Amino acid sequence: MGDAGPAMEKQIVIIGGGIIGVSTAYYLTQHHVYNPSIHKIILLEATELAGGSSGRAGGLLASWATPSCLAPLSFKLHSELAEKYDGATKWGYRRVHCADMTFQPPSSSSSQSQADSSPPSIPDSLDWLNKEPITHFTEIGNPTTTAQVDPHPLTHHLASICQSKSVEIIIGASAKSLDYSTDGKSLESVTYEQDGEVKTLNATDVVLSAGPWSPRLFPRIPMYGVRSHSIILEPTSDLTPYVLFPIFKPAISCPSSTPKEQEHKEENSSDTEIDALELYPRPAHPGPHTSLYICGPNDYPPLPSSTSSVPVSSSMIEAIKTASALMSPHIKNGRFIKGQACFRPQIRQHADGEAVGPIVGEVDDVKGLWIATGHDEWGVQNSQGTGYILAGMVWGERVEGIDVESLRPKHFIKKED
Ligand SMILES: Cc1cc2nc3c(=O)[nH]c(=O)nc-3n(C[C@H](O)[C@H](O)[C@H](O)COP(=O)(O)OP(=O)(O)OC[C@H]3O[C@@H](n4cnc5c(N)ncnc54)[C@H](O)[C@@H]3O)c2cc1C
Repeated sequence: MGDAGPAMEKQIVIIGGGIIGVSTAYYLTQHHVYNPSIHKIILLEATELAGGSSGRAGGLLASWATPSCLAPLSFKLHSELAEKYDGATKWGYRRVHCADMTFQPPSSSSSQSQADSSPPSIPDSLDWLNKEPITHFTEIGNPTTTAQVDPHPLTHHLASICQSKSVEIIIGASAKSLDYSTDGKSLESVTYEQDGEVKTLNATDVVLSAGPWSPRLFPRIPMYGVRSHSIILEPTSDLTPYVLFPIFKPAISCPSSTPKEQEHKEENSSDTEIDALELYPRPAHPGPHTSLYICGPNDYPPLPSSTSSVPVSSSMIEAIKTASALMSPHIKNGRFIKGQACFRPQIRQHADGEAVGPIVGEVDDVKGLWIATGHDEWGVQNSQGTGYILAGMVWGERVEGIDVESLRPKHFIKKED
């Protein structure tokens, strides 16, 4: 980063204690301009740290992720962070292989035609998978380009480093409004509610990193909340460090488990379909044993009021269990630990593969309002780069060598009416 200007007194309020808000707080404290006797950093979290997608994500990191202006930087920063704070033990950081594959369930009618074609080459180390139904296997990442973390302990660990650097983290503090100057051209304070009490914090700078809830405070952000379900299992043996993206052809169809869910209006049929899963074996650290995180398909129900009121479909949890059990006896006979769901922030509904966002930077026509959201499926991976570049911007420095122009809010947010 270039040279800083004079250290003007700043009171920075960060809204949201997910991986993006916490990483931004972390890099603000790491900046050479930061002086806790002059500056104040306060993070408001409505429910719990990493209570949303930041605590329920898979945690794949990839140098080839999108956007290309952020991903390689962020991948490198994750590696340095893990080195500095023993991330291998504290948040399960490790380098991994990663592969796309097609899985044809044994009972499907097309299995004979596939059985006639030559079987794909599958690494011997994946001896825990049922290999016969795999019709395609393509490695898309290796330990040079891909790694993984458990994002929940990572977020908590970063938050405790922030607290040791004098960041005040207020849990149960739900921001209710951004308060503007009378001409609307700058931000002056944030009003929040905690335990039924309404309070106002003056701010020179506000970082809005409330994930899919960000538009509730600044409606000009064109955001969707995408829901995904996931399960965590303890498999019957240690699994090799391979993140796998199986596509099921044909999709697995599972009956809805409860009459209540069958009646649910968002479900058109009584079956839940699984056409793809994501599998992330996790090391024993920091948990008590190795585990396997598996997530299922996306849907778009209405965004609930907070991370603590996300509806979990028991049919979807059962369907993920059923489909994943077909892939390995170590999954089928594993111990189910939990099922969960969360919403991740997506700038707009888009076709698979199309990269949109995140938004990182100051709103052009509102001085002091910084946006850091819309990270979609790469928020864990891009959290470190986001925090790093945003911290530089907030402290008034140009970030050398990184083209952040495409991330600026002006490319995404709606014009003021
Ligand atoms: C199933 C799944 C798997 C994923 N896998 C990966 C992966 O492998 N790799 C990867 O890089 N990314 C992955 N992601 C994406 C990643 O999880 C998200 O992009 C990232 O967690 C978003 O972080 P965030 O901090 O923006 O949002 P959130 O985690 O939603 O955090 C926002 C926080 O703001 C708080 N908040 C909301 N409103 C207010 C308010 N008014 N006042 C105060 N606080 C408020 C919330 O309580 C919440 O804690 C995955 C996502 C899902 C759903």
